[in-house]
Amino acid sequence: MSIKLTFLGTGDAGGVPLFGCNCSICLQMKKDGIRRSPCSAVISFGSCSFLIDAGRTDLLALFDQYQFKRILLTHYHADHVQGLFHIRWGNPALNIPVHGPVDEQGCADLLKHPGILDFTDQMIPFLCREFNGISITPVPLNHSKLTLGYCFDYKGKRVAYLTDTLGLPLETESFLLSWQPDILILDCSHPPGHAHMRNHNDLMTALCIHNKISPAESWLTHIGHELELYWHAQGIELPSNVFIATDGYQLTVR
Ligand SMILES: [Zn+2]
Ligand SMILES: [Zn+2]
Ligand SMILES: [Zn+2]
Repeated sequence: MSIKLTFLGTGDAGGVPLFGCNCSICLQMKKDGIRRSPCSAVISFGSCSFLIDAGRTDLLALFDQYQFKRILLTHYHADHVQGLFHIRWGNPALNIPVHGPVDEQGCADLLKHPGILDFTDQMIPFLCREFNGISITPVPLNHSKLTLGYCFDYKGKRVAYLTDTLGLPLETESFLLSWQPDILILDCSHPPGHAHMRNHNDLMTALCIHNKISPAESWLTHIGHELELYWHAQGIELPSNVFIATDGYQLTVR
């Protein structure tokens, strides 16, 4: 009766290595052939898997691997939806439910010309839904576009997936305080004291949220190359239950 979460991507909008960047981290990761892809994940429970965010452009292969029943979108920024443009003109016999916030603009012409993607069932903040046996409560986040985090409860195992955000709206914080996730997945794009911190957490803000909500574990994602560089240069110590997610890593809550 476990719930699994696999990180498909843990990078910020630019990804790491960042195109055209010659910083030591970007050069090293290029050399090692490792990368942080657009921030996204698979949530699996029973025999079912959902895709959380669709920024990877190889969704065709990912669908073959995971047979996603549904797609959940946190918001309509390109790094979270661009993969959908690669599958929307698929076999017309298909109908893939895509649940996201009510955002009439969406991204480019995606909502106007959805193809096989079905955007009709949208998520409302704090309205708990049950899909294929898992409960999902959407929570509002602080971002430049309307954005929802998702709180998953499968037979009492609880995972909160919160990206993209800078801090948390008060009502989301109080929801999480009483809901008490086992695992918190959290936006952490910037190193501490980042000058242009507007839409994403820096490390200090992310740690404040972790301390306040106090889950068994927190995992940091949506990571930018400057944060990666900071970690390697400073060798900072994180609390023993805070971890840096990497692409491909799988968590299990039992
Ligand atoms: Zn993003
Ligand atoms: Zn770089
Ligand atoms: Zn965003």
